[in-house]
Amino acid sequence: MASSMRVVCPGCDQEFLVSPQFERLKIDAKCPFCDKEFPVAEAKKIVRPSPMLLVK
Ligand SMILES: [Zn+2]
Repeated sequence: MASSMRVVCPGCDQEFLVSPQFERLKIDAKCPFCDKEFPVAEAKKIVRPSPMLLVK
């Protein structure tokens, strides 16, 4: 089970959850607040889950 990470939309500064796969597969995230689509790498802020939780 993958943990979600949080990103801050560069358009409206709202924070929302995206799957880490979005970053890995370079899929654009879509902000649920303003409908802006942007690459996860361009998020204003990315909050990743603790690395300890990612150890398989
Ligand atoms: Zn937004």
